[in-house]
Amino acid sequence: MDSLDAFAGQKLAALETGALRRRLTVTGRGPDAAATRAGRALVSFSCNDYLGLSHHPRVVAAAKYAVETYGAGAGGSRLVTGNYPVLSALEARLAAHKGKDAALVFGSGYLANLGITPALAGAGDLVVLDELSHSCMWAGAKLSGARILTFRHNDAGDLAATLSSERAGHGRALVLTERVFSMDGDRAPMADILAVARDFDAWTVVDDAHGLGIVEGGPRAPLEMGTLSKSLGSYGGYLCASRAVIDLLTSRARSFIYTTGLPPASAAAALESLAILEEEPDRCARPLVLARRFTTRLGLPEAESAVVPVLVGEAQRALDLSARLEAEGFLVVAIRPPTVPPGTARLRVAFSAAHSESQVDALADAIARLHAG
Ligand code: PMP
Repeated sequence: MDSLDAFAGQKLAALETGALRRRLTVTGRGPDAAATRAGRALVSFSCNDYLGLSHHPRVVAAAKYAVETYGAGAGGSRLVTGNYPVLSALEARLAAHKGKDAALVFGSGYLANLGITPALAGAGDLVVLDELSHSCMWAGAKLSGARILTFRHNDAGDLAATLSSERAGHGRALVLTERVFSMDGDRAPMADILAVARDFDAWTVVDDAHGLGIVEGGPRAPLEMGTLSKSLGSYGGYLCASRAVIDLLTSRARSFIYTTGLPPASAAAALESLAILEEEPDRCARPLVLARRFTTRLGLPEAESAVVPVLVGEAQRALDLSARLEAEGFLVVAIRPPTVPPGTARLRVAFSAAHSESQVDALADAIARLHAG
């Protein structure tokens, strides 16, 4: 135990020195973007509950019904006994929403990405990722054993150059990107990326974690994955694809097979949220409208999604700014390296249909005042 604790202690000290040590903060959450920390009421601009559905009465009622009917946990993996009825309804609705034949629900978005790439690529194959792809896309790529290359962020020309020089000599090739990037809020040029990938016989996986319901329309990738935990306000992940691909993943994605099925309440909540998302276009439009109101007020580049980065630079400055905003009643978490590249620490501001215009304006004005000072 001594050497173990000594190892952990040394590692922690190194993290501390690099301003990389993370600490958990207890955060309460309520409806209408309300949050509490240390007993203080805050307006949260850091939740990914973009449509404000996590507390919607219909969603909460669906979750309650599922708990009472199926129990608190799934009781087994999907392939054994954990495939309760709500899951197939959810998968059918997700597939229809994405215009695909079929869908597979995973335990989380992270688990989906951990399972998809290794099921489709392996040694001798090639995986090319946008350089800013989420950590779980990297994790899936590494687990696959395929050769990994990157292309410059959102640069379809660089993807073409990479595939042109490196595609030959590999069996299968996958291209991985995000429809909306989680820390920058910008959108991938999907039509261009899909066209390049097709030209080189590569299959595209797009991670729609931050786009679902917010940035709809545009071309679909053959592999559309995402999460149930952001705009759907619940928990879980999914892949929508052709029937053959979904059937293959059902038999081959290890992060699907060897883990307990999603809790029934999570699936039922996501299904109800998806229904509301489809019924209420005004709710879906609102996060982007508010994000644009914010970027206009601050003179920032126009928002492309519900996520707006306010770049600060050094990690400590971002932490200080976040703390000062918290003192004024706003929860806006600082994002630092290694989550983002060195020197690009930022406030990541997430807008929700639950925010009011006056809350958005008040936050913009506080940032203008504190960031300048
Ligand atoms: N992909 C992206 C782009 C994400 O931002 C996240 C979550 N932060 C995930 C996947 C993981 O999804 P989940 O939270 O459902 O595991």
